Amino acid sequence: MDDLAPEEIDRLHAELVALNEELLLLVDISESDSRPVDLDQPIGRLSRMDAIAQQKISQANRQAAQARAKSVQSAIQRIAEGEYGDCLACGEPIGVHRLKVKPEAAFCIVCQSQREKASSVSASR
Ligand SMILES: [Zn+2]
Repeated sequence: MDDLAPEEIDRLHAELVALNEELLLLVDISESDSRPVDLDQPIGRLSRMDAIAQQKISQANRQAAQARAKSVQSAIQRIAEGEYGDCLACGEPIGVHRLKVKPEAAFCIVCQSQREKASSVSASR
């Protein structure tokens, strides 16, 4: 990985640590929103449907934040192990531009789009 200077890794590391804290905070504050809707609460039918829809959205957001926090944490782990910056699938450098946009990226753009294609095929079956 000749395209990642040590100071660039340092900067991305700081970014990942901040991102991790931000995501954990987001998961934490969204916890109360994603509790099941209390159906005994006298709030009327429409607002109850709103509340359920709202709850589903915040649950999805929370799961997305949790999933992202997980990949951020494994990127931090890869920095500690000196494996950061290389694609986990093909071993090629992920590329500093991609890492600047998405510091937790574990795959190069080629492998990432292949994985996305594969998962959308299996999801539509
Ligand atoms: Zn790759």
